[in-house]
Amino acid sequence: MLDAIEKLLILQDRDRKCQRLLTELDNVAPQRAALHGRAQKARDALEAARQKLRQIESDRKQLELQVEEQKQHINRYSLQQFETKKNDEYRALAKEIDGCKATIVRLEDRQLDLMEQAEVAQTAVAGAIHLADATTKAADAELALLAERETSLQNELAAARQGRDQLAAVVDAGLLARYERLRNNKGGRVVVGVDHSACGGCHMQLPPQVVLTAQAAQEITVCPNCARILYHHQDMDLAASE
Ligand SMILES: [Zn+2]
Repeated sequence: MLDAIEKLLILQDRDRKCQRLLTELDNVAPQRAALHGRAQKARDALEAARQKLRQIESDRKQLELQVEEQKQHINRYSLQQFETKKNDEYRALAKEIDGCKATIVRLEDRQLDLMEQAEVAQTAVAGAIHLADATTKAADAELALLAERETSLQNELAAARQGRDQLAAVVDAGLLARYERLRNNKGGRVVVGVDHSACGGCHMQLPPQVVLTAQAAQEITVCPNCARILYHHQDMDLAASE
């Protein structure tokens, strides 16, 4: 195999490693957002549960005020009854008082109903507190791991890039430029083996002359179809003759 091809293959391997690391690093931000989102959702659920309880308690207070108001009406009507000498006025006031008492019974029924609702809502708040705490703790732990992973990926990438640049420095400038152009255009693998007389990149059947040139390994050979750089080694002959 040509020395230049060997160097390119190692360079390609490092470049692909850098690419894998970059892809992993790109995934860090969405993972972090998902963890923050999960914790936020649990906190939102807690706030909603608290809000519901506050609403029930405020409704209960409202009912208490209404009961108080009815009681004041009754007091006033009773006083008026005490002061009146007319029978029909007395009876009318008695009817008003009965109406107020009936209203109080209805209000107290609703108060009981709200007390039951408040109990359920309190249990829901306690559950939501527990869930929000647990979710936040779990998310924080995962975020810490993710931060560690990100740092280690960044370090790994920096080292891989440095190694890659050192390798690139010893590759022939013209060949390196061609390799980089191909990588920019096609991504992935651009130095490919000849596989059963076909290009290992685009899989088109190669003209015999191109296969022979690659086999001879005296000069850089490229696929006439996709322009990827071709190489050939002994194992390929075995594979081809199978
Ligand atoms: Zn090709």
